[in-house]
Parts: sequence; C-alpha cells; structure tokens
Amino acid sequence: MELDDSIKTVKGIGDKTAAGFSRLGIYTVRDLLYTFPRYYLTYDDPGRVSDAAPGARCSVKARIISRPSEKRGRKFLVTTFTCTDGTSELRIIFFNSPYIKSIFHIGDTYVFVGRIKMSGQIYTMEMPEYYSAAKYNSMKDIMQPVYPLTAGIRNNLIKKTIGQVSFLLDDMEDYLPDEVRQKYGLQPLGRALQNIHFPRESKEMKGAVERLSFDEFFRFLYEIRRARERREVPPNEHPLKEGSDPDIFIRSLPFNLTKGQSDALDDIKSDMSGESPMNRLVQGDVGSGKTAVAAAAIYSAVKSGYQAALMAPTEVLAEQHYNDFVKMFEPFGMSVRLLTGSLPGAEKKRLYEEICQGACDIIIGTHALIQDKVSYSDLGLVICDEQHRFGVSQREKLREKGNCPHILIMSATPIPRTLALIIYADMDISVISEMPEGRKRIKNVVIGPDKRRSAYSFISGEIEKGHQAYIICPMIEDSDDMPLENVIDYSLSLSEYFPKNVRIRYLHGKLSEEEKSNILKAFINREIDILVSTTVIEVGINNPNATVMMIENSERFGLAQLHQLRGRVGRGKYQSYAIFVDSKQSKESRERLSVIENSNDGFFIAGEDLRLRGPGEFFGVRQSGDLPFDIADIYSQSDMLKAAQEAVLLYGDKVKLPGRDIKTM
Ligand code: ADP
Ligand code: MG
Repeated sequence: MELDDSIKTVKGIGDKTAAGFSRLGIYTVRDLLYTFPRYYLTYDDPGRVSDAAPGARCSVKARIISRPSEKRGRKFLVTTFTCTDGTSELRIIFFNSPYIKSIFHIGDTYVFVGRIKMSGQIYTMEMPEYYSAAKYNSMKDIMQPVYPLTAGIRNNLIKKTIGQVSFLLDDMEDYLPDEVRQKYGLQPLGRALQNIHFPRESKEMKGAVERLSFDEFFRFLYEIRRARERREVPPNEHPLKEGSDPDIFIRSLPFNLTKGQSDALDDIKSDMSGESPMNRLVQGDVGSGKTAVAAAAIYSAVKSGYQAALMAPTEVLAEQHYNDFVKMFEPFGMSVRLLTGSLPGAEKKRLYEEICQGACDIIIGTHALIQDKVSYSDLGLVICDEQHRFGVSQREKLREKGNCPHILIMSATPIPRTLALIIYADMDISVISEMPEGRKRIKNVVIGPDKRRSAYSFISGEIEKGHQAYIICPMIEDSDDMPLENVIDYSLSLSEYFPKNVRIRYLHGKLSEEEKSNILKAFINREIDILVSTTVIEVGINNPNATVMMIENSERFGLAQLHQLRGRVGRGKYQSYAIFVDSKQSKESRERLSVIENSNDGFFIAGEDLRLRGPGEFFGVRQSGDLPFDIADIYSQSDMLKAAQEAVLLYGDKVKLPGRDIKTM
C-alpha cells in the first residue's frame, strides 16, 4: 500500500464507504492521514450521578437495577432501564436500538458516558457510550480523537481505518531535512501524524500541531514564492486614459469619501497608470466603504475603454452589488450585467455573447466569471470582493482570463499588518483605517445563558419597531459530542418562546445554494424576523434593517470572527446591538469577550486576539471560509508562520514537497 493509493485499497472499505469518505474530501490513504481530529475527548475517573453538572458530558459507573423495557412510539423505539451508582438512580434511554435489551442485565456494572439531564425528579442520560469497567480503565487518560463526520461515516470508522494504515507512518519520508527540523524544533513528519491521531499525552499532540501547521504555512509560502518566480512582470496593457478620472463619479455618490478611501483610491489610480498591471489588496474593516472605492476604480477602467468585472463569493452578495451598481452607473451610460451560475441557459448564452463582443461594460458575478466559457472583449480590471474565498491559483486564472487585467482584492478580514505582509506576500496593500462619519456605534453586551430571556424580550422590542435580528449558533444539528447550540433545535425552541406572528427561519451551509439564496433574499425583503444561522452568514451580507446580532456560544469563536459577525448589523441609520452569549463564563472567556464588548475596531481586536490566544487553544470549531489552512492558525501560531517564512527563504531550494496540493490553492 502507498500513500497515494485509493482509500478502497484498505481492507473493508467498499464503494459505499468510499463514497462517504469522498464527502469528507478523502480519496486516498494520504487524504485520510491528513484528516485531523477536530478536538479530543478524554475519559476521566467516573464521577457521581448527583454531582453531575446538568448538560455537561460526564462518566458514571453504575449497576443496573431494572430490566430494559421497550416502548414503541410513532417514530422511535425507546428502550429504558435504571441503574444506580449508590448516590442516585439514573435512567438510561436508547432510541431505535433493539439490540440494547439483550446487552444489559440486572446486576451488571457499566461505565456510562454522556450528558445527564433532569427529567422531573429523575436523572436521565440518552444514548450514552457504555464500557465495561476494564475497557474504561484502559481508555482512561488517553486522548480520544474526534473527527469531522458526515452521514454514513462514524468516528469509530475513521479511527479504525486510520489505525489500519498507520503502519505507513513508521518509515514515512520527511521532505524537511534534519537540519531544518532541528533548527525549528519540529517533530518528524511520520511521528507528527502518528501523534495527531494517537496522542499519548497533550504535549505530543501540541508538538504535532506545530509541525503540521509549519507544513501548511511552509507549503503556502513556498507556492507563493514559486508563483512569483514563474511570473515575469508583464507590461501594463490597460493604462488609464485621459478623461478617466473618477472625480465626477465620486461627486455623484451620496457622501464624501473618507481620507482612507481617497488614499486607497490614489494608490489604485497610480497602479493602473503604472508600468505593470495592478496587483493590490485593499484591507478595510467591515463597513469602511470598500465598495465605493471599487466602484470608482471600475468607473476609471470603463472610462478608459475597458471592461471591468466584480467577483463576489456568493450569489446573494453578487446580486446585492449588482442592484447597487445599476443605480450608480446608469447615469453615466455604463451598462451593468449579472452573471451567476443559476442564470437560465439561454440568458447565459446571450450574456456570454454580449461580454465577448464588448456590448457590456461591467460584469458582476460569482466565480462563474472566470469559467472557461466566458471570454471577454477587453477585460481591464477584475475586483474580488471578500477575497479569503479566492486562493492564489484563482487569481492566476483571472490573470490569464483577460490580457493581464489589473487585479484588486478587497478584504475585510482584519489581519495585523505584520501578518498581512506575509500572507499577501505577492501583493501591494492599502489599508482603510477609519470609518465613515455619523455611523451609530454598535452597542455591545456580553451575557450568560441565564439572561437569554431578557435578550429575547429585547429582540421582541426591536421586531415590534420593524427591525430584524440574527442569532448565530455554532452547530447545524444536535451532536452527541459537543454540548453547543445548533440552529435546528434552537429555532424550534425560539418558536416556542416567540408569538406565532414572529417569523423565524434557519440557515446553514449544508442547504443548497438555491435554498440559501432564497432564505437570504426573504430576510433582506423583511419576510423573516429572526434568522437563526451558522457562521455562513459571516461574509458581506448587507441588510441595513437588521439591528440585533446575538451570538450563542460566543466563547467558541475567535475574536476576529465575532467581529465579522457583528459587522452584519450597524450598517444603516438605526442604532444596532450585538449580544454575545458566554456559555462558559471562565476567566479566560470573560477576558476575551470583554475585548469585543469594549471595542468596535477590527484591527485592534485582531491584535488582541493574537495576544490572548497564545499557543494552546488550537482546536476551536474550525473557522469557516477563512484561510486555506486545515490546522494552522495565523493568529495563535504567528511564531510558526514566521519560522516557515524564514525556512522558505533559507531552504526553499533544497526541499521537494510531496505530491499533496493545498486544497484551495
Ligand atoms: P464594506 O467595506 O464592508 O464593503 P460597504 O462598502 O458595504 O462596506 O459600505 C457600507 C455602507 O457605508 C454602505 O451603505 C455605503 O453606502 C456607506 N458608505 C461608504 N462610504 C461612505 C462614506 N464615505 N460616508 C458615508 N457612508 C459611506
Ligand atoms: Mg463589502
């Protein structure tokens, strides 16, 4: 067996299981070994039933005192029995598990692991894990990996399959020379992979995280460097022409540009008139007005006789930009078109024609814009909004699309400047550091779960005023492993709290593009009052009528991400509010959340995030849609990032990277 063999070469993996694996992006044995645990569970000494914190995962050792009895409901077969640990009785409940009754007998003792709830006066535990005392002892104090899951692929299957191929790690080749490993104190690759899947202690695991993060950074920076070396600087084929100054366009906007906006625009104009094409990143906090800067650049490009394209990460966002741009550009006789994947075939064809013949000036869309079928008459400027969805290779593709168009990327991910210089090593950077005047400052509050009801009644008040609210939960559906809020159950319990006329819908990343888009449109059209969502809502959505952002399990999110989420409100003239629910209320979570409670400045928050999340807290729920790293974290591991940057410079030439591509590159 080799690392690049299909997963089907592993004994016991057939077509059906392989299909399940493919949904997790696992096709080869190497992919499997590079599927990292999201976090680890540990099994501590069993505690007492009567001491268990309600809702928290715990283990209890208990003796069975009643025979399992079965009840068949409409949907479920429910099997229950009672046991005792000497302090209290505990009712164990299983659903749709007909085999249970033949496993458990009166007098047997087991260790049950799960969450204890109070149901009336009775302690209950649903669908627990169960172990014999001996088995439990053997697992005690060992960290148990928990992998990302999908329907049909259970954690144990991943664990077992990795176990079957782990012999490959024993003499796995390491592309990093000893010298480099020693210099940065890195584990050998095979050992790091061994340790990430089967850690014997947390120190080993942390060392593994460091090594694997180093690799991701190294590869990323190495690719950037290679791409830069390959590229000769082409001449500027689309210089700005006389009469293309955007002054008149800017005066048509309903506001004056801030100094930051003007400065960024000056950089852009000078790039576009320069020797070679523009390759610039504009970083500006949420709401700093990047769209206006982009629009002014588009105006100049079109005035100079070129086409311009604006690429957004989602259809909904593309549509929003389209609607705004039609209003802005029509007075100047410039035509705007919308190109998305869901456009009907005939219309799409007609639009391709128009684009190809130069019959339209400004094209807005999703990555449909860079598909092979689209060819432009004379594309002079491409703008990517919210760039973290667009990797280096997509930028390359864009460059090939036109005849080396100018490229402008707009990012709202606040990254401290030192890091930005590394991550965007191939780009020039402008920073818009101030906000437009007259914006009402978002009011923030951090609360414990006990104050949830008051938050709801506050939200009711806003809805009565005609406003709308977002509520963010970290999970999509209930998970046995993580006691976190999930959008599906949460929406249900909300509808019990709020009167019938309050319209509640939920949104998450597993819905189809179309469903997502419809829900967001309904929300923007005010047909939904409360949108319960996972963090898919994070990128760029603009609904100025929404005034409340409530975030459940705030303690689980990075500060930078909380700031992005908060940026969905406070976009209009109304006073807006952010409510952060801290379910942990530890010293650490309080300190972190007080940063966001007391500041609305994205760059300051990013810096504090970096300072507070020292190395150690690696496994948050993975931040969706951020940078192209599985395990590395630019905030908490900036030291590894710097090491990798140095290593690429010093040793880049001596290293041959193995055949695994970074997924998003
Ligand atoms: P972002 O930088 O997050 O993309 P937008 O470009 O969407 O921000 O701008 C947010 C809001 O601020 C928009 O409604 C926009 O019209 C408004 N805006 C932009 N620039 C200014 C300005 N200089 N003064 C006042 N309002 C502005
Ligand atoms: Mg924007």
